[in-house]
Amino acid sequence: MSSRSASPALRLPSIDSLLRHPACQPLTERYGREALLASLRQLLDDLREPVISGQLEAIEITPEILAGRAGERLAQQHRSHVRRVFNLTGTVLHTNLGRALLPQEAIDAVLMAARHPLNLEFDLHSGKRGDRDDLIEGLIRELTGAEAVTVVNNNAAAVLLTLNSLGARKEGIISRGELIEIGGAFRIPDIMARAGVKLHEVGTTNRTHAKDYEAAIGPRSGLVMRVHASNYNIQGFTTSVPTAELAELAHKHDLPLLEDLGSGSLLDLTRWGLPAEPTVRQALLDGADIVTFSGDKLLGGPQAGLIVGRKDLIAKIKKNPLKRALRVDKLTLAALEAVLGLYRDPDRLAERLPSLRLLTRPRADILAQAVRLHPSLAKVMGDGWSVSAVPALGMIGSGSQPVARLPSAALCLRPEVSKRLRGRRLLELEAAFRQLDIPVLGRLDDDALWLDLRQLDDEPAWLAQLDRLQVPG
Ligand SMILES: *Cc1c(COP(=O)(O)O)cnc(C)c1O
Repeated sequence: MSSRSASPALRLPSIDSLLRHPACQPLTERYGREALLASLRQLLDDLREPVISGQLEAIEITPEILAGRAGERLAQQHRSHVRRVFNLTGTVLHTNLGRALLPQEAIDAVLMAARHPLNLEFDLHSGKRGDRDDLIEGLIRELTGAEAVTVVNNNAAAVLLTLNSLGARKEGIISRGELIEIGGAFRIPDIMARAGVKLHEVGTTNRTHAKDYEAAIGPRSGLVMRVHASNYNIQGFTTSVPTAELAELAHKHDLPLLEDLGSGSLLDLTRWGLPAEPTVRQALLDGADIVTFSGDKLLGGPQAGLIVGRKDLIAKIKKNPLKRALRVDKLTLAALEAVLGLYRDPDRLAERLPSLRLLTRPRADILAQAVRLHPSLAKVMGDGWSVSAVPALGMIGSGSQPVARLPSAALCLRPEVSKRLRGRRLLELEAAFRQLDIPVLGRLDDDALWLDLRQLDDEPAWLAQLDRLQVPG
């Protein structure tokens, strides 16, 4: 039985009348006729059964109600999957949350590159074909002291490409203490194998000496590699060979030394009170022939992998056909140039580069913010929760300085229920914060949900959605 032949009491509005109805006009404009049609059909199908069985009165289902429901469904379906979140985890360069935030200068450069044709591979002086690396080579050489430069998609790609270009079918010598996993299935032994380099591991997990490398070097050796073990820390009875000594040893045998710095840094971070991280310039001065590092870790730029060092080796790397597969796009290059440009003025860098500004934000400032926001949050949470503004400890993230802690402050939420129920309550609260229009991501620790405020700079947006939080309990 179709709804057309049914008695008036069972008759739902027709699709045609709905599409023409004024309540549906804004939806047609926003989502297009086809999407609206599909949504209305679906809605009417879903309603037919309850109407026929008498659970719903067709009379009550007005076009306005149907338009409202269709609007909700369409909004849900069309909501972007790439969404902004509030990163209140306390980890600043969070790999799962997009790492570094770009400065305005880089955002402007990305917009320009997205909107207009540009000289991506075109030399404006000669009028001939150019090389995209040339756009940032001068700046990177100036900032690192390197002879030459090439840029790829990320540091994992930089390591893969360098190993494959310089060590394929030969042995790569590396300390057992540096055979690390970075996360996301990036393991040095696997990447070496994929690069066609035969792993020759030397020393032990905690101690590797110059004589271990010396003994391993032979006719099949292709390169010596050093990996900055950025995401873990071996303490106690340890020895490793400093870059300068290792470089001397490699060069005595005519082998190149690759140093994967991971995050690396262009400037000495201790000037901003941050833990010391090896600089790219120092690694090159110490004699590393090639240094690789990420664009979106401590550098504070877009995702990219920078390969810097000896001119002849960089030329070899650029000739590798894999380079074409791993190259960066124009948006990345535009952003990278703008970020690197800020490094020319170190005095103002901490104001202008968001990641450095956030990393160096003083605890007193963050704690004052926590105290300021405390009453609004406490009011929303009600009686079942204790809310406090407290000192907390954050992290740099992205494997940089895993044991270093950043003095920070947080809003700390504890359920006022028996210990048995606490875990579930906290998971419910954590989920509720994730359901907000701009999901709020905190950190569960010590029977509490911690919202570390180091990275909360859009207070109005954060406050505006608080009263929509579905507080459990
Ligand atoms: C992070 C890291 C990488 C991978 O860099 P991505 O830019 O994430 O690809 C490689 N090596 C080390 C030592 C790292 O810390």
